[in-house]
Amino acid sequence: SNDYDYLFKIVLIGDPGVGKSNILSRIHRNDFNVNYQETDIVEFAQKIFEVQPDGKRVKAQIWDRGGSKKYQSAGFQYYRGAVGVIVVYSITDRASFENATTYWLEELSQFKKSQDDVYRLLVGNKIDLNDKRSVSIDEARQFAENNGLSFIETSALNLNNIDNLFQDVVNGIYNNAKVV
Ligand code: GDP
Repeated sequence: SNDYDYLFKIVLIGDPGVGKSNILSRIHRNDFNVNYQETDIVEFAQKIFEVQPDGKRVKAQIWDRGGSKKYQSAGFQYYRGAVGVIVVYSITDRASFENATTYWLEELSQFKKSQDDVYRLLVGNKIDLNDKRSVSIDEARQFAENNGLSFIETSALNLNNIDNLFQDVVNGIYNNAKVV
């Protein structure tokens, strides 16, 4: 028998430096990388979550494009089969918000023609640096509401809302998608 009922592929997108690889590493490990680490591979992490209301077990397989690939646009293969997308910006980096809400969502729509099949979550990371904030909660929440995305703010440094982020995306996919 399987140890899970469903497998969900989820991809991280967003500008380099916003914290994607640290968010991914926080899914199991406690090793926050203080130094900027460049690896040249696509990585993923997997974890089993229980979804409500029926307690089904979902294996979330979350992907990040490492290293130099961060600077290139993602391709069809990266998005292929993905049922959830986590679009990350840094609340301290205005340009990363502008790119999340334009460039990255447009790239996604190019590869995922049927947006209905994809659960999209906008994540403002680095809330531990609130004194350097350059994107307000209201502005980001408004954008998310207007564009059919969920929204959450996180810190991969102090773990604020990281569990909620993963639980939200898994529940959101389960409850929105036509899971049979
Ligand atoms: P990626 O390029 O989007 O994968 O970003 P990384 O995960 O490599 O992080 C880029 C830089 O931001 C690194 O120096 C991290 O230590 C730092 N960083 C990531 N997340 C946070 C966070 O929540 N708070 C703070 N203060 N720094 C962070």
